[in-house]
Amino acid sequence: MTGGIQRIQYAVTGIVQGVGFRPFLHRLARETGVTGFARNTGHGVSGEAQGDAQAVGVFLAGLTDPRRLPPLAVVREMTHQAIAPVPGETGFAICASAADGRETLISPDIGMCEDCRRELFDPADRRYRYPFINCTNCGPRFTIVRRVPYDRASTTMARFAMCADCAREYGDIEDRRYHAQPDCCSGCGPRLWYAGADGNEQPGDAIAQAQALLMRGGVLAVKGLGGFHLACLPDEAASSMLRARKHRDEKPFALMCRDMDAVRRICIAGAEEEQALLGPRKPIVLLRKRQRGSLTWLSDNEDIGVMLPYTPLHALLMDGEADTLVMTSANPSALPAVISNDEAVASLHGIADGYLLHDREIEARCDDSVLRIADDGRGMAEYFIRRSRGYAPQPVHIDFDCTGVLALGAEQKASFALGKGQDVFYSQHIGDLKNAETLAHYEDQIARYMSLFGIEPKRVVCDLHPDYLSSRYAGRTGLPVLRVQHHHAHMLSCMADNGLDGECIGVIWDGTGLGEDQTIWGGEFLIGGYGGVSRAASMRPILLPGGDAAIRQISRIGDSLLWDAGLPGASPLTAAMLDKRINCPPSSGMGRLFDGVYALLTGRRDVTYEGQGAVLLEALACGAQDEAGSLPVQLYTDESGVLRLDTRPMIRALVSLRDGGAESARLAMMFHRTLIGAAVQICVQLRGRTGLDRVVLSGGVFFNQILLRGLSSALRDQGFGVYIHHRVSTSDEGIALGQLAAACSGGQDA
Ligand code: ZN
Ligand code: ZN
Ligand code: FE
Repeated sequence: MTGGIQRIQYAVTGIVQGVGFRPFLHRLARETGVTGFARNTGHGVSGEAQGDAQAVGVFLAGLTDPRRLPPLAVVREMTHQAIAPVPGETGFAICASAADGRETLISPDIGMCEDCRRELFDPADRRYRYPFINCTNCGPRFTIVRRVPYDRASTTMARFAMCADCAREYGDIEDRRYHAQPDCCSGCGPRLWYAGADGNEQPGDAIAQAQALLMRGGVLAVKGLGGFHLACLPDEAASSMLRARKHRDEKPFALMCRDMDAVRRICIAGAEEEQALLGPRKPIVLLRKRQRGSLTWLSDNEDIGVMLPYTPLHALLMDGEADTLVMTSANPSALPAVISNDEAVASLHGIADGYLLHDREIEARCDDSVLRIADDGRGMAEYFIRRSRGYAPQPVHIDFDCTGVLALGAEQKASFALGKGQDVFYSQHIGDLKNAETLAHYEDQIARYMSLFGIEPKRVVCDLHPDYLSSRYAGRTGLPVLRVQHHHAHMLSCMADNGLDGECIGVIWDGTGLGEDQTIWGGEFLIGGYGGVSRAASMRPILLPGGDAAIRQISRIGDSLLWDAGLPGASPLTAAMLDKRINCPPSSGMGRLFDGVYALLTGRRDVTYEGQGAVLLEALACGAQDEAGSLPVQLYTDESGVLRLDTRPMIRALVSLRDGGAESARLAMMFHRTLIGAAVQICVQLRGRTGLDRVVLSGGVFFNQILLRGLSSALRDQGFGVYIHHRVSTSDEGIALGQLAAACSGGQDA
């Protein structure tokens, strides 16, 4: 050993690639005076550091100090060991990657950082009001990359040659823009312009013209990070006009607010929600409306989705008179959102009155992420409605090896997942796989993920439903196919999401999924684990008059519930269908029960989007004034040994209370309470039978916060460990994770 000089070998795992980690190490080395090197490896970043004991100590401490790490970096583990010093070493080097270059992860797109914001609004800065300002800590990534290795030539920034000033920053390890591939300025980067309704460029200040259009009440198409948005003022006139032009159903519109003050004028935001809004990923966060029953033209329920400006372009647009805008994705109904200028002008004709366009191409469509903050029993955590921009393609880390598995998801809210080591590369939001355009987008993204992450799938997993386009795609791959029952996949998804092994009870409630008996399932109580799952209990099926038609015509389900319970009041036509069982598939789906009960309580006949009845029933229950009691139900065991929850007694009680003039809000709350109570009763029975005391909650019905909160806490009160999703969505979007888990544990064809 020479005079107190130490040398260590260190290795860091976690999210440490593509997030500016090596430049961070270089700066840390400069500050502490250590010499050595750093490089990306297949597992993270590793290297060596040398200096006196104190310098090495500070360097090591800095490696894991969350206050110092680049904003997106997450260190999972850091190990180090002493090795022999290297005499005469000077400087700290960033080495080329160790392997094939593919291990450098592609970062998600990141919202504009505070440093860039300051420069954007600083008249003295050379990028003052430049709409494409970015740096190592922020900017476009996933949406502009065409291939690996990730460098400028591989992105849609390739056509913009860096000017001398930008190139100097890019090459300077001390600079915030060191190796920032999309680095640019007004002298060398993309250009923004405003176009009128005809798509032709208008001379003059683009932002000012766009703002003027909005203030006149017009609809503006804005080219964003992963697609176009349609924007307008949030008042009733402008947003109703947008809704009419878009032929949009009553699905809520999201808002973009200038800052937290603007958010708070409309909604209530707690500390965790504020943190999610302000963080680098900039999702849409669902917040409670400040005033109950307000802004009905924006949202049909008590929540409203809000996001903050996440690109410099948005920040400039919001820096005007309006501090809040409707910002909804510009997708022609049911088709993927448009991403190119020509496509936008062609397909938004008659919808947009003007366009904010630029010449940086969007390589991959990526819609906004949507989440809420929910209590997962250990604290308030992210609960995804949609995991997309800002999160994809960052892998979900799981506890087992899943290399070479491609999980294809379901049909609605389609997504896919590709496994490599213990990382699951989860797709962005794709949409409902119900048309050729969405299927093409899905297939393109599978191919893109395979090439970006260097994954050659050896096996595919799909849903049991043979007609899903994802299931058909599975057959076309020519690879061995595992088919996993829909609700089994939901359950395993929640287990993998929470790192659970062994066996659990799963309460899996959703709208529709094909069951093992070829009927529609969706109100399921399952037991098992990765090795296999069985159906222990379920809702007693009801008939869906007209099949899928009942999804929109919820009065048919209301009629079916009446008919089933032996009550009068069903429409004669529906009753005749039910009597003769004409096109009346049985379903144990929980989502449909919500729709039917909503129809019974309110008399509403149709809904405009799938699951709206359930959304509105929850919103209705939120208005209940007092602690509503519960209603009778009955449990019995059917001929196949499955415990069944019979809701007919509840329907009879609900209808009689309704006819007696009871307040519908109170009845809606009683319905929720009844389901919670019955689910707890069933879980207690299953625990008695199996000894299992952990419950996972999954399925789209658990977007319902009254159920999620109520059932979680009631189960905890009974001594159960309760687990909800927190890294993938509880909806069908999260299914691919469960499919992948089934394939990795030698699961058999369901
Ligand atoms: Zn930045
Ligand atoms: Zn430049
Ligand atoms: Fe589902």
